[in-house]
Formats: sequence, C-alpha cells, structure tokens
Amino acid sequence: MAETSKEKVRVRIAPSPTGQMHIGTARTALFNWLFARQQGGTFVLRIEDTDVERSKKEYETELLQGLEWLGLTWDEGPDANGGPDRGEFGPYRQSERTAIYRKYIQQLLEKGEAYYCYCTKEDLEAQRQALLAAGLPPRYNGHCRNLVEPPAGRNPEVIRFKVPEVKVEFKDLIHGKTSFDTALFGDQVIAKDLDTPLYNFAVVVDDALMEITHVIRGEDHLSNTPKQILMQRALGFPTPQYAHLPLILNPDRSKMSKRFADVALSSYRERGYLPDGIVNFIGLLGWHPKDDHEVFTREYALEHFEMSRVQQAGAIFNEEKLDFVNREHMKTTPIVELVTLAVPFYEKAGIAIPSATDANYGMLAKAVALQLGRAKTLADVVEGSRLFFAMPEYEAKLLCWKETSVNDTMDALRGALAVLEAHAANKFEKEPLLEALTPLTNEKGRGVVLWPLRVSLSGQAASPDPMEIMEVLGKDESIARVSRAIEKLEGGRRLF
Ligand code: GLU
Repeated sequence: MAETSKEKVRVRIAPSPTGQMHIGTARTALFNWLFARQQGGTFVLRIEDTDVERSKKEYETELLQGLEWLGLTWDEGPDANGGPDRGEFGPYRQSERTAIYRKYIQQLLEKGEAYYCYCTKEDLEAQRQALLAAGLPPRYNGHCRNLVEPPAGRNPEVIRFKVPEVKVEFKDLIHGKTSFDTALFGDQVIAKDLDTPLYNFAVVVDDALMEITHVIRGEDHLSNTPKQILMQRALGFPTPQYAHLPLILNPDRSKMSKRFADVALSSYRERGYLPDGIVNFIGLLGWHPKDDHEVFTREYALEHFEMSRVQQAGAIFNEEKLDFVNREHMKTTPIVELVTLAVPFYEKAGIAIPSATDANYGMLAKAVALQLGRAKTLADVVEGSRLFFAMPEYEAKLLCWKETSVNDTMDALRGALAVLEAHAANKFEKEPLLEALTPLTNEKGRGVVLWPLRVSLSGQAASPDPMEIMEVLGKDESIARVSRAIEKLEGGRRLF
C-alpha cells in the first residue's frame, strides 16, 4: 500500500490515556506531525483506550491539551473542546469501536485463524514450568489450537490468533531491513472476548481502516510489528511502512525514568518551559538537522526534517540541553507574547503585577526583558523580576560595601538620591543615569556608591545592574527605594 510515493500519506499517533502524558509521546507526535506536514499528508489522533480499567478521561484531556499546547495540531481525531470528532474515519476512540473489532475477530474465528482458548491462569503457569524444566523457552503451547469440542463445563478464557512459524521481514525506515522469527511467539491473545480486543489486534484493524500509510512510533513497539503484520495478512489488510523512533534514555543510558527526570510533559509546562523550546528539544531526541543547528523553530524543522536521518541509537535526555534551547527561544519570543505567557507564573508566585490597563504596564515588559539571556524558564523570569514589583526586604547592614561605615554609606546614598532627584524622569535610562552618577562614584569610590544603590533597589547582593533596575522602576519608585534605604540605615545606626 505505502510502497508508492504517489499515495497520500496518512500517519497517526495512538496514545493510551493510562497516565500523565509522557514526554516520549510528545516526541512521537512531533515526528508524525513533521512527516505528515512535509508530505502534505494527514495526521490522525487515535485514543487507544481499550484498557477500561486504566484509561481515564482526565488523561485523555491532558493528551489533547498537551498536543494543542505544543502546536502539534491533528487533522482527524477527537475534538479538544469536547465537540464532535474531526474526520471521516472515526470514531477515533477505540472504546467506541467495539462493534468494528467484533466483526474482525469473528472473521478470524470463522476462517480458523483464531480460536477460543480455555486454558486458565493455572494451566498456563503449569505449561510454563514444564517448558522451562525441559530447557525450552516458555510460550503458549497451543493446547487449545485444535480442540474439536470445547472442554465440557468450561468457558473460554481468551481468543488467540494462530501465529504461523515463519520469518517476518519488513523494511523499517529507521532500522532498515528487520526480520523476526515467529517460532518463539506462541499463539497470541488478541481479545479477552468478542467485545474486549487487546492492543495488538485493535491497532491492526484501526491502522487498516483508517488507511494509515506510515506507522511512526517508539522502538518499544518494534517487537509487536511482526505480530501485527501476521494479523494484517490474515485479515487481508495491507502492511503500512514502519519507522521506529529510538528509545529515550537517561544520561546513564538506562531507559528514561522518573528517577532521573520528569517524564510528564505537564511538569515542563508547569516549570515554565515554552512550547517552542520543548518542540525544539524533543526534535533533537533522535534527530538533528544536517547543518547541526541546535536551536530551531517548527518551520525550520519542517524544512529540514528527514526520516532517514533519524538515528537508531538511543537518544539521551539531557536537561541542560533543554535549558539551553529554551533560553534561546525565550530570547527570540516577542516580548509582548512572553509577558502574556509569564502572567500565570506571576499569579502562581503571588506577585502582584500591573494590569494591562495600568499606566505602569510598560514596566512589566521591561522587567521581563531584563531577564532574557539568564532566565531558562518563565518561572526564572518571574523569580528574577520579583524585585520590581514589591519593596524589597533586606537587612540594613547589607547596604554597607565591604568595610565601609554606616555614615559613609549613608553619605553615599544621600549623594545618589540628590543626583536622582535632579535627574529628568524621561531620562531614567541606563546610560544617562550612569553619566549623572559618575562624578559621585569618582569622588567616593564605585563600590561605596553603587553597592548600596544596588541593594536599596533590589534588596539583593547579586542582581542586575542598578542603572538597569532604575530604568525599569522609573524615577518615583527608584527614589522611594533609595529613601527607604537611608531610613533603614538611620534606624539601624546603633544596631550594627
Ligand atoms: N497505544 C500505544 C501506546 O500508547 C501506541 C502503539 C502504536 O503506536 O502502535 O504505546
């Protein structure tokens, strides 16, 4: 089916809503999305919720919202806002497709390609032990394969597919020619009963009926592929092309786990990474552009993505790389957009910021802009700019630079205050302020003046340059903070 390039490409992402959206699911979505968009194809979202006990609506919602947040929009699938499904091949939730699977299970049963199995858990365990004792690999021994009559008084336990002992070969777009000997598989369970199919079966039916041409998914599904191909053959379905994306690994090369990093996409969102930063970072999990560009946009990835350049080796999840690319994306995001994105983070941190209608609103943009280059996330932006939105708290003695006395510090600050008062409000900018303060710093020493000035403005020993802070705060607030520092020194004079 997918051998001809003229055919319209249809790809899908088929997540199971059985837990928080994994960062690996986001990576699979991105590679499918890139491939679909590049080929002018269709990107389908299918919710694989056949496991009723473990599937939860809230996880499905998280998946839909996560994909939307990343900007990986799907052409067909459930609607993120609860509206009707989009697309002609629905329903797109497996839980709504039971009647369809039933028909195909029956077809296999009628053709003798599948059969009811009556072996209980205990029977299977006994079989397993017997095979192990005989030094043979454990697999289902085919006990019920050729039953002439069902065992009296027993109900079927499951439905099994007759796995022929053959060599299944396929060409994976990433791994190249891949082959599996099915002799060790044993007959596979495809359904618990007619209305309860399992993953490996439902996926075969859905990929065929949804006319999927390319299955792009994680390497953990590589060993499922021969089973799925055999079922496709039994059902007379075409075999799509496969591309198995490399595993995502911890820095010690073990499979990515919670022990090393957050695996849930939502935690990166909550920590203030940008969708653009995440998309860039997950794009590097197994692929990089030919020109070794590390920081790129979706548009750039769309232009340069090549499935044939996706690596086979596991992709290391390196959070420092994520921090780096996210910092770069913050620098290139328009400031107005960044402010909008930062607002919920200010709210969460309990920091009162000027509202959009406030005359002081422009100050917010300046405060945010000042964090760029150092802030890795929106949460960093908020923490770094906290000092602009509330009178800072600090100990009076922090105002004295090195061994400078309280009196000399007070003198220096009074001198600075006089300069600021005389300085035009519309010239409260870095360069003119520095120039205006230079005679004073020359006279008293840079540290003696600039240190207490910085502390009175920020309350911190390490902060942006005092001129930059004043440029954001403006004349009135700068003067208020320096005056308050002088009062603090006066009050604390006898105490230290
Ligand atoms: N539901 C499967 C999963 O979440 C997807 C399998 C597939 O893409 O075929 O791992």
